[in-house]
Amino acid sequence: MPRETGKVLLVGAGPGAADLLTVRALRAIEGAQALLYDALVAEEIIALAPSACVRVQVGKRAGRASMSQETINRLMLRLAKRGLDVVRLKGGDPSIFGRSGEEVEFLRAHGIEVEIVPGVTAASAAAAQFGFPLTHRGEARRLVMATARAGENQADDGDWACLADPQTTAAFYMGRDTAGEVAARLIARGRKPSTPAIAVENASRADARLIGARLDQLGQAVEAAGFSGPVLLVVGEATARARAWTQEASYREALRTAR
Ligand code: SAH
Repeated sequence: MPRETGKVLLVGAGPGAADLLTVRALRAIEGAQALLYDALVAEEIIALAPSACVRVQVGKRAGRASMSQETINRLMLRLAKRGLDVVRLKGGDPSIFGRSGEEVEFLRAHGIEVEIVPGVTAASAAAAQFGFPLTHRGEARRLVMATARAGENQADDGDWACLADPQTTAAFYMGRDTAGEVAARLIARGRKPSTPAIAVENASRADARLIGARLDQLGQAVEAAGFSGPVLLVVGEATARARAWTQEASYREALRTAR
């Protein structure tokens, strides 16, 4: 007997590699009747859904047209009201720059049952793959996850005060095109220009790339790298451990041993 209304699961797909899905996420995907996924979610993961499952790509990549949040909300609602169990699959962890708050609020307001399944966020994946810690005793006592999107929170410089602490590891999401601005802002807030920083593209995937630079050279280094995939910027003393580690071996060799 089909239920009258389906439920919606907001599921973290992790950073890309399918074997970084949680068991709970895998079960959710395997049980999906409708799957709405972001552009960053790997094909390999989408393929885990049952063949009868309705699949819809709903966005979103910086700079490309995508479905509006309102449209995504309405689509989830419509599918759930039709009695389908909906899996809304998001890159990384849904609670980190994933707009999960808005989706949960909307669905609950319409009486739809919602459940959240966490995922491995990009910062954790980058740290694991390239062998550096996000916190480190005596070096990094705090981790801040921030967005580096130009135009967002510009007026709110208060947000940036804690980032000036030399013992803060700052992970910037959506920062590929604004690395130079982010670095300049951190330096203006008192962060040392020589602070070690890295940019990681496609963390967890076979084609992942890491570059390291002093903070004052991060913008240039990111530009020179010509990244085309998702890029996470990480600033702080702890990232020097990744640089030391990757400098020991060639980049390919380092990747091979990391997997
Ligand atoms: N919810 C996601 C973040 C979504 S915002 C998470 O928890 O990871 C999208 C941004 O995440 C990208 O612009 C990039 O900064 C970062 N990102 C996502 N996947 C990534 C990956 N595999 N490698 C590097 N950065 C990634």
